[in-house]
Amino acid sequence: MTAVPPEDAARAATLRERIEDANREYYVLDSPSLSDREYDTLFRELRSLEERYPALRTPDSPTQRVGAEPATQLAKHTHLVPMLSLGNAFDEGELEDWEKRIVRLGGDSIRSSGYTAELKIDGAAVSLTYREGLLEIGTTRGNGTIGEVVTANIRTVRDVPLRLRGKGHPPLLEIRGEVYMPFSGFEELNAARVKAGEPVFANPRNSASGSLRMLDPGITAKRPLRFFGYAIALPDGEAPPVRSQWELLALLDSWGIPVAPHRQRCATLGEVHTWASNVEKTVRAELDFAIDGAVVKIDALGVQEELGVVGREPRWAIARKFAPDIAETKLLDIQVNVGRTGVLNPFAMLEPVEIGGAMVKLATLHNFDLVHAKDLRIGDTVLVKRAGEVIPQVIGPVPEKRDPKNPPREVKVPTKCPRCGTPVERDEDEVALYCSNVACPGRQLEGLVHFASRGAMDIRGLSYARIMQLIDAELVHDAADIYDLTVEQLVSLERFAEKSAENLVAAIEESKKRPLSRLLNALGIRHVGEQSAQLLARHFGTMDRLMAATADDILEVRGVGEIIAHAVSSFFATESSRTLIEKLRAHGLTFDEPVQVAADGALRGKTVVITGTLPSLSRGEATAMVERAGGRVTSGVSKATSFVVVGEDAGSKLDKARQLGVETIDEAELLKRIQES
Ligand code: NAD
Repeated sequence: MTAVPPEDAARAATLRERIEDANREYYVLDSPSLSDREYDTLFRELRSLEERYPALRTPDSPTQRVGAEPATQLAKHTHLVPMLSLGNAFDEGELEDWEKRIVRLGGDSIRSSGYTAELKIDGAAVSLTYREGLLEIGTTRGNGTIGEVVTANIRTVRDVPLRLRGKGHPPLLEIRGEVYMPFSGFEELNAARVKAGEPVFANPRNSASGSLRMLDPGITAKRPLRFFGYAIALPDGEAPPVRSQWELLALLDSWGIPVAPHRQRCATLGEVHTWASNVEKTVRAELDFAIDGAVVKIDALGVQEELGVVGREPRWAIARKFAPDIAETKLLDIQVNVGRTGVLNPFAMLEPVEIGGAMVKLATLHNFDLVHAKDLRIGDTVLVKRAGEVIPQVIGPVPEKRDPKNPPREVKVPTKCPRCGTPVERDEDEVALYCSNVACPGRQLEGLVHFASRGAMDIRGLSYARIMQLIDAELVHDAADIYDLTVEQLVSLERFAEKSAENLVAAIEESKKRPLSRLLNALGIRHVGEQSAQLLARHFGTMDRLMAATADDILEVRGVGEIIAHAVSSFFATESSRTLIEKLRAHGLTFDEPVQVAADGALRGKTVVITGTLPSLSRGEATAMVERAGGRVTSGVSKATSFVVVGEDAGSKLDKARQLGVETIDEAELLKRIQES
């Protein structure tokens, strides 16, 4: 045997100690001081030293054991079959190496078994013992062989069935899975802990694991815990009821055990790569629970059995780990951005930190109420989450890291718009603060982009880049200035040829013909979108009548509620809005809404609901077409609905239509029916 150089032996001892400490902090105290990446790096270093010098591989090495010793306060339970850890693959290459290793052991037939790929839920592993279909014991993984009994706590997890559905379950079985805490519940819990002066949980995993191991189930019951199952264990010698992992997940589902979504059966590792990369880039951002990777399992249970276990890990499964999506950094400042409708959006300026392969410097904070609920202070160490393409978010502060000698600063809620100084307003029952000045430079760019957009004034050629150019050249300050633009002014700008300048001026002129409903949408009045703009325009008929209306008059419009009524009346009560309207009037824009009802159209007497995004028509265009054909568009589906026009991402209205048996059609069919007149 190779002699172990003393420095390597010393390094191995240091690593063992550091990893043991980290295990205790992570598994027992639920309060890690290392990131998972740092932990995994130390773990790999120890493992490679042990591979080089097997004499270093002591039986008590953390590489040989799962988790940590169970805590003493809780009763113990010996698992029917040990609960294992998983090997890791950090990229596609490492996943391929794993396949090569098992093919070497099990032969080429391994590949023909295929794989089941699942989300790797970042929660706490549990084992649920069911006897004759009834939940008898719930335990943690503990050290893999012996777990801690947490039955009373498990019973409070609302999606763990106390009795399995269906019949013919094995008389005694353990269902293995993960207890987790959804992000939404985690954020609420941490906000409440901050208010109560208690330390926050570092991440949903620690908070799930901590909640599960509470001595008082009354506390666990108040924690928003959920469960996903993915495996079973049977007494020695009993054959599994199905032949593959894929079938097992379906069986668990049929028993009423929640099974994680997005699982996939893959014939080859290439398919696994495609699936995993989609999960990491897209799916992960949409989930309300944390995943730290994917688990790839040989599908055939027979092949799993043949491959067996090595040390603390099965050979037949591996964790394809993803880049972490939560990191710690410093909150340097909170600044405010003014959105197109004047809403003030606070955002965090962060010390740059790498999350999931991208540098993050800014993160959204949504509104000031949330900033206070989370007790964020400038100078705090904060947890930041970035998932996929989603804008990074600040989860909360790490109050333990506050330095009493240099305490962080409290955040002041602005009383004036940071861009134009107008006093900020806040509607009752609303969290957002906003600037009511329509000429506020903060609202300019986004506001003008919206003004020119398709569902609004539809000014072809007035793109985002062009609007930026016009603002930079100080040719345009508000929407009315667009109507002053001349061909001569435009050609003097870069990238404007004579022809494109002429086309743009013509498109601007053409936009003056848009009806009042389009203009109302274009103005960017808070809460007023295409649909409510149409309701208002149709009800009042002219801009002047709408401007003269009180909030109560506006409330009489069917489909318009208090929030919209209040927003519209306060918009027209503001000096800067009235000035803008008068400027637009002077340019000759259309201030009324044509009456468009075809008494003998193809849809006369029909009540239509439109839901989802239609492939070519905007919601406003589709509504106008239905109305021109004599139909009526309503917002809610009922038995009186003649049919529902369904676009992409249709939600509850489609479900309701199906429930009530109301006919659903697509855009093409709608156009066909309208043309029949
Ligand atoms: P693991 O979390 O990497 O993987 C094994 C576990 O994955 C299983 O026990 C199971 O609970 C879980 N899992 C989730 N979804 C699954 C699915 N669909 N199918 C099968 N299993 C699924 O391994 P581990 O042994 O629990 O923990 C080691 C990891 O924990 C480390 O790699 C590190 O990321 C983290 N850790 C961190 C620290 C720290 O200080 N930060 C300390 C200890 C451990």
